[in-house]
Amino acid sequence: MNKFENLGLAPHLLDAINDMGFTTPSEVQSQAIPLLLSQETDLVALAQTGTGKTAAFGFPLIQKIQDTSKQTQGLILSPTRELCLQITNELKNYAKYLPKLNVVAIYGGASITDQARQIERGAQIVVATPGRMKDMIGRKMVDISSIDYCVLDEADEMLNMGFYEDIKDILKHTPEQKKTWLFSATMPKEVATIAKEFMQTPKEITVGSKNEGSKNVSHEYYLAAGRDRYYTLKRLADANPDIFSVIFCRTKRDTQKVAEKLIEDGYNAAALHGDLSQNQRDLVMKSFRSHQIQMLVATDVAARGIDVDDVTHVINYQLPDEIETYTHRSGRTGRAGKKGISMVIITKSELRKIKAIERIIKQNFEQKNIPSGEEICE
Ligand code: ADP
Ligand code: MG
Repeated sequence: MNKFENLGLAPHLLDAINDMGFTTPSEVQSQAIPLLLSQETDLVALAQTGTGKTAAFGFPLIQKIQDTSKQTQGLILSPTRELCLQITNELKNYAKYLPKLNVVAIYGGASITDQARQIERGAQIVVATPGRMKDMIGRKMVDISSIDYCVLDEADEMLNMGFYEDIKDILKHTPEQKKTWLFSATMPKEVATIAKEFMQTPKEITVGSKNEGSKNVSHEYYLAAGRDRYYTLKRLADANPDIFSVIFCRTKRDTQKVAEKLIEDGYNAAALHGDLSQNQRDLVMKSFRSHQIQMLVATDVAARGIDVDDVTHVINYQLPDEIETYTHRSGRTGRAGKKGISMVIITKSELRKIKAIERIIKQNFEQKNIPSGEEICE
């Protein structure tokens, strides 16, 4: 039996884990935690979204940090502002019994001087988006020249978003002998390149098969033949009154439009995309997390890696351009062992895309009929 008690974790972490209500380590956690605690090594860890990768690096990292020193010892790079905040909050939770450990989030769209001040006060762990990190290094607001650990979280997403050069620049400012831990849901070529370029004979952990989606998610598609997507979306929402969902659109413009229409039509919805101010984005995420918003209409970039409990449905209002993105979208539901449904609204010409996705996720879609008015009223 796998237990947190058997992984080599310090008592204060076991207490924090207990407080969070985690009873059993996930697969990636039971593999990564003992390895990282017992060895100073580079690591490439691949596991599907929602399998607890944050704790898989977060617990060992916290245990290895010396909280008697104020020096920055660990750097976590993550693709989006939302994720930075999410990871920071989680790490603070893990370290609740280490009052001297400071975790600081560094991301764009918020005051850089405030963030610099927080670092100045002493941040043993910095969680950053690559863009803001580079900026702060340039302005000498942060010193990562003696870090011991660098985590590349959601590495596939970071590379997808074009952060390769930034990551490279940032790593140049870190010491040669630091250890790099790379966590990713999928293993595209770019991730393999990074591993080869920046790591020394990394250990590898793979949970499940590469690029495979969560087994807790079932996949459905709806043919919006003759009728438009928006009509289908409304029908799906009406048929699922308790829906708590993320709806993905392809562009910021569509995202905004769909959200506005839903609100106009009396649904409890909000938009999340890059044209909103950081403040607005934080507010939307907060309302969504607290279930004040039932339907979050989002772009892929804005919703990357977001971990909100209990998302019941992911709706692909439009399919993504890149098939791999589908895995990430559907990974917003079915988290932490719960069941979820990923729905896709397509037109006939997109049927072959469904086939291509089926091959990648190794799961089949079920074709469903758009719920009729009668079914909804029942
Ligand atoms: P990933 O980075 O792999 O997508 P996260 O680290 O965001 O996944 O974790 C997904 C969810 O699972 C989070 O809400 C987290 O709190 C929860 N979780 C992580 N580990 C465990 C565990 N061992 N037991 C129960 N829940 C867990
Ligand atoms: Mg993650």
